[in-house]
Amino acid sequence: MDESYQHVFSDQLLVGLPVGKAVCVGRNYLDHVRELNNPESRKLVLFMKPPSCLVSLHQPVLLPPYGGECHHELEIAVLIGARLRGADPADADAAVVGYALALDLTLREVQTELKQLGLPWELAKAFDRSLPISPFVPKRFLPRPQEIVFSLEVNGQLRQRGYTGDMIRGIMPMLATISRYFTLYPGDVVLTGTPAGVGPLQAGDQLLMTLQDHIRFETQVEREPAG
Ligand code: ZN
Repeated sequence: MDESYQHVFSDQLLVGLPVGKAVCVGRNYLDHVRELNNPESRKLVLFMKPPSCLVSLHQPVLLPPYGGECHHELEIAVLIGARLRGADPADADAAVVGYALALDLTLREVQTELKQLGLPWELAKAFDRSLPISPFVPKRFLPRPQEIVFSLEVNGQLRQRGYTGDMIRGIMPMLATISRYFTLYPGDVVLTGTPAGVGPLQAGDQLLMTLQDHIRFETQVEREPAG
């Protein structure tokens, strides 16, 4: 857990919002649905990560010492600045503060077993430090959030390249839908799903993540010692 995590903007100024929950959207890019052989239904897939998952990407990405393969899922994260409950897409748009890159770290072998047994996903998805996140680009710099290009290279090889226009459910309709089930509070984050190319991370991997010209983030992967 990283108790020192705070939301910051890309100019490093503090956002000044508490660190809340992360609501995560599953299966929001068709190419990723297909690579995991998930059913191509339009059923809504939501799960959550508690605040203890959030950690700055300024630190190395830490893999847990258990659980087998830990996959990267590069996603656009949306920071919420106003309470949303039963919102419409216009309310959602007004409540967004900024956009960041996030890694929805996933213990894939654990998740596959949980799926097969029909059990909840927290052990695979909601462990401490399972949500490394970059600073947030203020929304005024991204006036067309459905046209964002983002990417992840691992050791110089392109692994994931996403375009938010390819989302099955767009950002603002998705925030509105989420707010029917889970009230979103200032400081909450919504992860909008991952494009194809997910795969295992290894200790020593060098990561390069980009969000157009706004974020270019390099970090490395380490394994947390056991015990
Ligand atoms: Zn994800």
